[in-house]
Amino acid sequence: MNDHSLEHIKENVRQLLKELPPGVELVAAAKQQPPEKIVAAIEAGIRIIGENYVQEAAEAFMVIGKKVQWSFIGHLQKNKVKKAVEIFDIIETVDSLELAAEINKRCAALGKIMPVLIEVNSGREPQKFGALPEEVEPLARAITGLPNLKLRGLMTMGPFEGDPEEARPYFRLTRQLFEQLKALNLPGAELNILSMGMTNSYRVAIEEGANRVRLGTRIFGPRF
Ligand SMILES: *Cc1c(COP(=O)(O)O)cnc(C)c1O
Repeated sequence: MNDHSLEHIKENVRQLLKELPPGVELVAAAKQQPPEKIVAAIEAGIRIIGENYVQEAAEAFMVIGKKVQWSFIGHLQKNKVKKAVEIFDIIETVDSLELAAEINKRCAALGKIMPVLIEVNSGREPQKFGALPEEVEPLARAITGLPNLKLRGLMTMGPFEGDPEEARPYFRLTRQLFEQLKALNLPGAELNILSMGMTNSYRVAIEEGANRVRLGTRIFGPRF
């Protein structure tokens, strides 16, 4: 890796931070990126690192430490929860009561309260994870009954190939679910995070109400 590629990452971050409207948080989706590249992004102003794999995150965490927010954005397997709750400050991909209960149990053992988002399978794609739209409210009610979880909002991927306009209805649906949840005034919930949009779709996601976007390629370049 040369200085040129690190400089390029920093320039991408600076441009993005100028471009994003106030109130929209930028998550650097760091899967497959070596710690040096993540550090470069942090030096240019990144404050939230998104990781898909617990083991990869553990390696980056050892280098970088607690100076950023660590956000889990991958599919969390039950047998990885114990390690995950030691590293992460927020888990964006809770999609079942079983997973929520496991996170609750492991956080209780650490005396930690974990902010979580419910991942919504807004496109009802069989190959994707996430709660189906009609499962969101019952799952949200169940999560607010778990003392070591704090429900903070919703996350969705949406279909992410091709034209970003095709993702718009799924972002809109997720925004509606978010507003419906807020209207329930669930005790203990603090619903203020709507995480949607990736490199090809973040502009559309922001138009549809996202206040957190997760960008990998736009920051680090293509993954191989
Ligand atoms: C990889 C990933 C992203 C970022 O994808 P890009 O298209 O590279 O911006 C966002 N969210 C999740 C959940 C991811 O796995």
